Amino acid sequence: MKRFLPLVCALALLTGCAGTAEPVVQTFFAMDTVMSITAYDSGPTDGLVAAQQEVNRLEGLWSRTRSGSDVSRLNDAAGQWVEVDADTAALLEKANAAAQESAMAFDPALSPVMDAWGFGSTESETTAVHRVPSQEELDALLPLTRDLPQVEEGRARLPLEGQALDLGAIAKGAAAAYVVDALTEHGVESAIIALGGNITALGTKPDGSPFRVYVRDPQGSEEDYLCLMALPAGMTCSTSGGYERWFESGGEIYHHIIDPSDGYPAQSGLLSVTVVAQDPALADAWSTALYVLGAEEAVARWESGMGSVAGMELILVTEEGTVYITEGLEEGLETLGEEAGYTYEILRR
Ligand code: ADP
Ligand code: MG
Repeated sequence: MKRFLPLVCALALLTGCAGTAEPVVQTFFAMDTVMSITAYDSGPTDGLVAAQQEVNRLEGLWSRTRSGSDVSRLNDAAGQWVEVDADTAALLEKANAAAQESAMAFDPALSPVMDAWGFGSTESETTAVHRVPSQEELDALLPLTRDLPQVEEGRARLPLEGQALDLGAIAKGAAAAYVVDALTEHGVESAIIALGGNITALGTKPDGSPFRVYVRDPQGSEEDYLCLMALPAGMTCSTSGGYERWFESGGEIYHHIIDPSDGYPAQSGLLSVTVVAQDPALADAWSTALYVLGAEEAVARWESGMGSVAGMELILVTEEGTVYITEGLEEGLETLGEEAGYTYEILRR
């Protein structure tokens, strides 16, 4: 498993600008993943410290494993109202909207099923027991999913006893917005923020050109890349792929992105989905949702701009080796996977 090397879109630290001060990099482990913030301003230390503190605060609210977190308390008291932080209420509202707009391809209440596969975040990856649950087991657990948390001012509630939330597919993205705020408050104007597979550009590189990020080859090693692309100021790119976490049983590969409609690892014909969007939480949630929904549905949503995220652009990698890239990402794009057998197609509206 590649748990500790999850910078799916690796950073292209191409400073290449004579006279620019060396960037300051802050790397830390939080929310079960490696995070790094690279700031190009001089004297960004206070901002970096504040940003990391903010991530730690949010992890204290949204972790499923920490007792006393808002998510733990909601899960422990499933069926009853629980007082929650305003930031938790806001995240739950956003998660619910993504769930509804994705026709429940993204389901924040999928935990009971995730746990049955051993992908639940109640156990650390090193001790998790991965197994294929029986159909009876899944049939018994699926009714505990899909009912979304109810949210009112200052409080929330999982409607059914036995339900459990897992915000793993949206929380890291959501945290990026807080990191941006913390850095901005401390005067940082140029930084690239990588929270697991979510990368956010705060401003541009010091020379005014956009930051550039690598998107990984979902079938390659960590150093094999599909493309290098420009990430405009203020945008986030989020990648979801079945290759990130998986296990093998009876000759079959089972990965960690579950199709909530049947409780099995999604088999939509995609190897990875990269979503570029303005809102980092939505980029994160939708990369997971579109991975479940598949290329046809993803492209239809991109074309219509309906029922998804405003300003969204996509990179879809199919099992056949076709890489579909929406036209908004064409400028500044460098393809890198031809030798590995990929073919590239730009999608136009
Ligand atoms: P990662 O967190 O591994 O970078 P994602 O953002 O795609 O990748 O989130 C995957 C995680 O989200 C899984 O490990 C699991 O906890 C949870 N998850 C899996 N399938 C779904 C789904 N359909 N809806 C919501 N959460 C999911
Ligand atoms: Mg996600």
